[in-house]
Amino acid sequence: MAQTIQVKDKTFAVSIPEAQIQAEVRRVAKEIVRDYQGQNPVFLAVLNGSFIFAADLLREVDMPCEVSFVRLASYQGVSTTGEIREIMGLNVDVTGRPVIIVEDIVDTGLTMAHMLDTLRRHNPSSIDICTLLLKPGKLQVSLDIRYCCLQIPNDFIVGYGLDYDGYGRNTKDIYTLVQ
Ligand code: 5GP
Repeated sequence: MAQTIQVKDKTFAVSIPEAQIQAEVRRVAKEIVRDYQGQNPVFLAVLNGSFIFAADLLREVDMPCEVSFVRLASYQGVSTTGEIREIMGLNVDVTGRPVIIVEDIVDTGLTMAHMLDTLRRHNPSSIDICTLLLKPGKLQVSLDIRYCCLQIPNDFIVGYGLDYDGYGRNTKDIYTLVQ
């Protein structure tokens, strides 16, 4: 495990080693299997950041389920409400189905709040949030996060799917920006 890595112009130090990530992913997968037995949920993994987390999590989820990938596209709204986010690629019918959103990180929570609003219009029977990381100190909206692997401080992190300017996603550990 490299203690520090260089991603473009910035240096990052290892903060969450692979073994700890994997232990937490397995714990959360067990909780989901316990809670969703016989319910046939749809996992919606939010690209790009959650691709590694989703791959590891879903391989630990030993029950019938569907997995789909969505992307959040941002548009500049024509109204004064500002940015509008739409879910792109929702190609599975979630009507009447339990949905579990798989996200890399909840920071302010605004992205997740938009996601919930949009998803509710597709009438799933329930929606739960499953996030790899949560920065409780940054949360600006009230969110009921049922599944969370790790809570972290407010610092910027990369690795295990998360990027800095498109780079740094392909590591096994998670790294924090060195100021
Ligand atoms: P939120 O809407 O909760 O503020 O932001 C969520 C999104 O911001 C995440 O899906 C992620 O793309 C990005 N983000 C927030 N904090 C970090 C971070 O520390 N590192 C990286 N790489 N992305 C982050």
